[in-house]
Amino acid sequence: MRRTTTPGPFASRCRYAGAALLAASIFTIDTLTALGSAVAVLYALVLIIVADIGSRRSILGWSLLCIALTLTSFGYMHGLQGHIEATLRLLFSLAALLATTFLMMRRHADRQALEAQAELLNITNDAIYLSDSTDQVIYWNRGAEVLYGWSFDEAQGRDAHQLLKTRFPQSRGAVERSLAATGAWEGEVIQSTRDGREVTALSRWLRRDDIGQRGGRTLESNTDITTRKAAEEALRRSERRYRTIFENLAVAIWEHDLRPMKAELDALRAQGVDDLAAYLVRYPDFVRRMRASVRIIDVNTTALRMMGVASKDEFFTSLDQFLADEDAQFGGFLLALDRDAPHWETESTLRTRSGELLRVIVAFNFPGDGALDCVQASVLNITERVRVQETLQRTRDQLDHALRAATIGEVSASIAHEINQPLAAIAIHADAAGRWMDRDPPDLDEVRASVREAAVAARRASDVVRRVRSFMTKVEPERAPLAIDPVVEEAVHLTRHELASHGATLIPALDACGMLVQGDRILLQQVLINLMTNAAQAMAVSASTERTIRLLTRRVRGGVAIDVCDTGPGFTPETAQKAFEPFFTTKANGMGLGLAMCRTIIGVHEGEISIAPTAGAGGGGRVSIWLPALAAPAP
Ligand code: ADP
Repeated sequence: MRRTTTPGPFASRCRYAGAALLAASIFTIDTLTALGSAVAVLYALVLIIVADIGSRRSILGWSLLCIALTLTSFGYMHGLQGHIEATLRLLFSLAALLATTFLMMRRHADRQALEAQAELLNITNDAIYLSDSTDQVIYWNRGAEVLYGWSFDEAQGRDAHQLLKTRFPQSRGAVERSLAATGAWEGEVIQSTRDGREVTALSRWLRRDDIGQRGGRTLESNTDITTRKAAEEALRRSERRYRTIFENLAVAIWEHDLRPMKAELDALRAQGVDDLAAYLVRYPDFVRRMRASVRIIDVNTTALRMMGVASKDEFFTSLDQFLADEDAQFGGFLLALDRDAPHWETESTLRTRSGELLRVIVAFNFPGDGALDCVQASVLNITERVRVQETLQRTRDQLDHALRAATIGEVSASIAHEINQPLAAIAIHADAAGRWMDRDPPDLDEVRASVREAAVAARRASDVVRRVRSFMTKVEPERAPLAIDPVVEEAVHLTRHELASHGATLIPALDACGMLVQGDRILLQQVLINLMTNAAQAMAVSASTERTIRLLTRRVRGGVAIDVCDTGPGFTPETAQKAFEPFFTTKANGMGLGLAMCRTIIGVHEGEISIAPTAGAGGGGRVSIWLPALAAPAP
């Protein structure tokens, strides 16, 4: 069986030529020989030849031609008075020609109907093929050519299922059994195309027995469902993924049916309730009823765990069952639902199955299309976080308290540290006064001078206490224009006795005459006294016999530099790095506050203080200060 029965143009031309030759031969024999038989009957063969290739008109034309040739031969042979036998042969031949014409016309019509049906099969996108009782393809439509890549000519005569490597859901045997029992089979098969691609097809088989033959013809129609299957698989995967996410999210998820609630709210609006917020306050029972009407339709595993429920079937069915009684947020939720808000979030309290109260953040996402049958709420348990925050707050309060206590301790320690020097000076002057008194005769002038010095040191001690206290408690230091060299000289004067008691010699080299800085005299002097005392103490414990402190002031980039250099062991890189840290000390009785105070004081004067580390012992210590100049009159 061919998909189309019309031969090509060349074959048609050959057939027409053959038919014409045959007709000419019959005419010659019929006209020129006296065979005495109905030779003209053979014209039927001519009609049979052209019937397959010609149109309806062409069959009729050839028929008329054959009749005309028959009549011509008769006329030529017998004239008008033909013999009765010859006339009967003529009539017999004409009848045969007419009958053949009729049959050929019928066949032509049938063939056209068949071709129309075959064309229909070609229009469909489904792959349709027909196999005979030996499973050989005898028909293969265009859909099959497109889907599988083999043309009809290539597939014809081959076993379709070997060609397509068909894989059946169960087995070919099961298919055959179904065909034998019902004459039909339907199922999904996987087949390979010519280029090796696999397609999944929904296959429908129909078997019709050939009359008088075992087995029969099988018509198979295959619909390509590869894309649909892939889409279904993608959908299934996406659904699985969504489920996994839904179930395993760290956040609990509730799905609710809010339709009854929304219907009630709409009904209220229809009754003319304009101010819903006021209505909810006035009718708390309505709010309670609404709460009871929210149905929970699904929850994830996290929700089960959070609420202490074993399975979804046992989960609370309505919101009302686990919202804490005092929950006052529900009204807000109703208002959000009423005004079609896209989102609503609140902090709330839930009661678990065991009665434990949980603090949660609830966030509702209302679908924009108004579908309220499955509204999701995510519920984040923040009970632990709240607890930690509370603990944290408590710890912070305790820390604040401890810090205040420590500050008081630091202030006292700083005061103690800073008044050590004036106290030592008082003691030295008091001793000196005593020694002058013990002279015979007592040198009252010296006694007076020593007592005066002791009084100055005592006043200074009280100034220091006041300043340090106010400084540590963050009261702004005094700010006055100060000529730097006199401030330094005064500090030198205040420490000279103490330095002498450590065996140190002080060499001032002041070269910042007229330079002014803005600052607090007492605090800046305290810095210098600290640095000089540190230098003297460092040199006192060193093996070196030379104990000299050089105090230098000079003008530098927009300010004044003060260097305190000694001939002690100097700072190692480590002490240089840590020396400014509060409570860092290398001395047995040290407090580690002097340099920390110095840095703070210089800092509030917008200056800088630094230590030059010396590579090894014996390099000498050097601490440098820079303070911004207030005004620098021309030298
Ligand atoms: P304290 O004098 O109570 O130890 P400081 O803060 O004044 O506290 O000094 C911190 C440390 O810096 C000292 O313990 C000492 O190790 C080091 N230091 C300070 N001045 C000098 C110096 N001139 N030479 C060497 N080391 C010093």
